[in-house]
Amino acid sequence: MHIYDLIIIGGGPCGLAMGVEAAKNGLDYLILEKGNLTESIRRYPRRMRFFSTAENIEIGGLPFAISEVKANRNEALQYYRKVAGYYHLNFKLFVTVDRTEKQADGTFITYANDGTLFHSKKIVLATGYFDVPRQLNIPGENLPHVSHYYDEPFRYSFTNVVLVGGSNSSVEAALELYRHDANVTIVHKDEDFKTRVKYWLVPDVKNRIKEGRIKARFNSRVTRIEEGKLLLKNTLTGEEEWMPADFVFLLVGYLPDEHLLARCGVLLNPETKVPSFDPETFETNVEGLYLCGTVMAGVFTEKIFIENGRDHAAAIADHLVGREVRKVKE
Ligand code: FAD
Repeated sequence: MHIYDLIIIGGGPCGLAMGVEAAKNGLDYLILEKGNLTESIRRYPRRMRFFSTAENIEIGGLPFAISEVKANRNEALQYYRKVAGYYHLNFKLFVTVDRTEKQADGTFITYANDGTLFHSKKIVLATGYFDVPRQLNIPGENLPHVSHYYDEPFRYSFTNVVLVGGSNSSVEAALELYRHDANVTIVHKDEDFKTRVKYWLVPDVKNRIKEGRIKARFNSRVTRIEEGKLLLKNTLTGEEEWMPADFVFLLVGYLPDEHLLARCGVLLNPETKVPSFDPETFETNVEGLYLCGTVMAGVFTEKIFIENGRDHAAAIADHLVGREVRKVKE
């Protein structure tokens, strides 16, 4: 039976950064990833561009050289693959982890869904948040024309598309869909878009709304979805409105998988879902099990992203090898 020093669960940017640190520190490690490397980014809107500059999402000290300031999805996918290749990272793809279990001797067993077991001295969970969409809990949310993930515009041209959400995902999708001849409506529960919407998108979307080319319903919630239409309620006046909707995108964010964390023995704050961990070492209440990247965010997913999540890896590595743990900026 082989016992790894470290099993890293999740091969996103932060899991890969952890792999690089493990390799640099001479640890015998394995990354387990349920899809291919950076699977979440692969599932992002095809034509998305990061809000971070390329150097702010670099990992492993390798330059992310592109001609623009900010990378698009394809460039990021390619960059992270090159990092994995450069460091000869040790990973197993298409392995979905169900849980980890600490043994009486202090080692861990990681159970994959296909029945495979992996043994290790330590665990790093770096599973991000992209697999669990926030739910509206309304009738019709699971109909086939409703999705929590936007991909690309061409399937939706000349149809009625409703986008729920007031942040970047919804605004970017609305502009792209409008420019590909979809009849777009944005529905948002507040009176204005979120302040974190990319500053260069704000005048574009607001002017399109002013011109009536994109429709918007602020202070409104979708209360029911049916095939081809949905029901809105204005939260100020209580007025209801049926609206045509051939496709509906509920772009209201994602959450770390609290059930996976619980199955690994990690305690969560019942309200915020923030796991119990030491903010300096990232070790959880399960000694020897660490969190790296956005998996530790609870409901505050806007607070941890690649820019700061990538730095968790070096601090965890310090703790693993018994060095003084470097400080990570929040
Ligand atoms: P992820 O990238 O989500 O990686 C987690 C990995 O774990 C995935 O590959 C997943 O398949 C795998 N996994 C999950 N569960 C299991 C399991 N049970 N078993 C095995 N593997 C599993 N951040 C920035 O810093 N700058 C930006 O400009 C930026 N733009 C963004 C744009 C969009 C549209 C979105 C949605 C996010 C953006 N973010 C940005 C946030 C950023 O992408 C995430 O914070 C980042 O992906 C976090 O990296 P991670 O490694 O923690 O998680």
